[in-house]
Amino acid sequence: QYELSAFIRDITHKKQSEALIWQQANFDKVTGLPNRHMFHNRLEQEIRKAQRTEQQIALLFIDLDHFKEVNDTLGHNVGDLLLIETAQRLSHCVREIDTVSRLGGDEFTVILLGVNDIKIVERIAQSILKSISEPFKLGDEVAYISASIGITFYPSDATNIEDMLKSADQAMYVSKSLGRNQSSYYTAALQADAQQRRLLINDLRHALVDNQFVLHFQPIVDMATGRIHKAEALIRWQHPTRGMVSPLEFISLAEETGLINEIGDWVFYEATRWTHRWIEIAGQDFQISINKSPVQFMREDDHSEWLAHLTKLHLSGHNVVVEITEGLLLNPTEQVTGSLSKLHDAGVQIAIDDFGTGYSSLAYIKKFDIDYLKIDKAFVNNIETNANDMALCEAIIVMAHKLGLKVIAEGVETEAQRKLLRDSGCDYMQGYLFSEPVPPEAFEALLKAAALVVA
Ligand code: C2E
Ligand code: CA
Ligand code: CA
Repeated sequence: QYELSAFIRDITHKKQSEALIWQQANFDKVTGLPNRHMFHNRLEQEIRKAQRTEQQIALLFIDLDHFKEVNDTLGHNVGDLLLIETAQRLSHCVREIDTVSRLGGDEFTVILLGVNDIKIVERIAQSILKSISEPFKLGDEVAYISASIGITFYPSDATNIEDMLKSADQAMYVSKSLGRNQSSYYTAALQADAQQRRLLINDLRHALVDNQFVLHFQPIVDMATGRIHKAEALIRWQHPTRGMVSPLEFISLAEETGLINEIGDWVFYEATRWTHRWIEIAGQDFQISINKSPVQFMREDDHSEWLAHLTKLHLSGHNVVVEITEGLLLNPTEQVTGSLSKLHDAGVQIAIDDFGTGYSSLAYIKKFDIDYLKIDKAFVNNIETNANDMALCEAIIVMAHKLGLKVIAEGVETEAQRKLLRDSGCDYMQGYLFSEPVPPEAFEALLKAAALVVA
C-alpha cells in the first residue's frame, strides 16, 4: 500500500519535472511566449506545410526602440513588465493561426501564415507599430517606446530559417536607420508599394477637411421609357499633386483605416443635396444610388441621422437607393440585418452591386428585401461574343423578375449590348453608351436635355 502511493508520487514528480523541463526549453520565462527554440520548430514545421500547400509565410522581426533606456533608468523589474505587456500587445495584433515569439532581449518575431495578400501583412505590421507606440503604464511609471520591424517572405525572399531571419533582420535595420517606429520589407518592390500606400493613407486623412472629394453622377436609363430618373453617385478624389485618384485605389484604404465612415457620410450628404435640386427637373420619383461599403455596416447605425437629413431636405426614402455587395448578405450579423430593414422601412431601396462576379446566389436574396440586381460590367462586356454569358444574363433577368426584383445592367458600352439586354427584358441600363459619370453641373444639363426630349 505504502509502496504503491510512493511509487505514484514519484511518477507524478517525474512527470511534473519533465513538463517543467519542456516548458523551460520551449517558452520564455518572462513573457510566457514561445522562445527561440520553439520559434525554430514552429517555423520549420510551417515551412514544410507551406511547401505542400504553396502558401506564403511572412516573418516579422521586431526590435523595440529605446528599450535599453527604459531598462537602465527604470530598472530591470520595470523592464520585465514592459516585455510582458509588449508580448500581450503583440498577441492582440495577430490572428489565431499566427505565432508570436521572443528571441531574447527586446527582440520578438511574428510568423504570419497564408498571407497571399500582402495587405494582411501590412495591416498587422501597422497595428503592431500603433499598439507598441501607446504609452506603457508600468506600476507608477509610464514609458514610451516604439518598434522597428523587418519583414521577409517565404519562399520569395528566402527558403530556409537562417536566411529568413537574416533578411528580416536586415530589413529591420532599414527601419532603424530610417528613424525607427516603422516597418520595412526586405524586397525593394514591396517596400516601394507599402511606402506608396502609407503616403496615400496619410493624404486621405486630410482629403475630407481639405475638400478634395467630388461626386460624379452617371445616369441610369429606364429601358421602357428612355427616361433618366435614376443616377449613381461615384466619388472622385482630386489629389493636390497626383491629380484624380480612382476610387478603386483609395476606397480599400479608406475601409482599412475606418475613414470610409466619414467619407460615406459625406457622399450621402453631398448626393442628397444634389438630389434635392434635381427632383425639380426630373420629377419627384428621381432616385440617387449610393455605394455603401460593408465596413460602414460594421458600426451600430439605425440610419436615424441619414433619415432625419432626408426629411430636412423634403426628400423621401424613395429618393435613395443603397448599393451593397453580395458578401454582406452571406453571413449577415444582426447589425447588418437590422440596418438594412431600417432603410427598407423608411422606403430606401436596396441594390446588389456587381452581381454575377461573386457568389451569385439568388437563395439569400429572398431572405432580404432587395429591390435591384446590378449585373456586373465584366459580365455585360462579353454577352456579344460569349454565349454562356448571354445565357446567364438572361437567366438572371428571368429569375430576378420571378422574385420581384428589377435588373440594372452596368457597363453597357455598345448598341449591340443594349439591344441584347433590352430583348432579354433588362429594366435599366448604365454605361458609357449613355454617359460616363460626369460632374454635377454636366449631369444637370443632361437631365434638362432629357426632360425636353421626353416632354
Ligand atoms: P461600381 O459601384 O461597380 O461602379 C461602377 C464603375 O463602373 C464606376 O467606376 C464607373 O465609372 C464604371 N463604369 C460605368 N460605366 C462603364 C462602362 O460603360 N464601361 C466601363 N468599363 N466602366 C464603366 P469608378 O467610378 O471608378 O468606381 C469604381 C468603384 O469604386 C465602384 O464600382 C465602387 O465599388 C467604388 N466606389 C465609387 N464611389 C464610391 C463611394 O462613394 N462609396 C463606396 N463605398 N465605393 C465607391
Ligand atoms: Ca455601384
Ligand atoms: Ca458595380
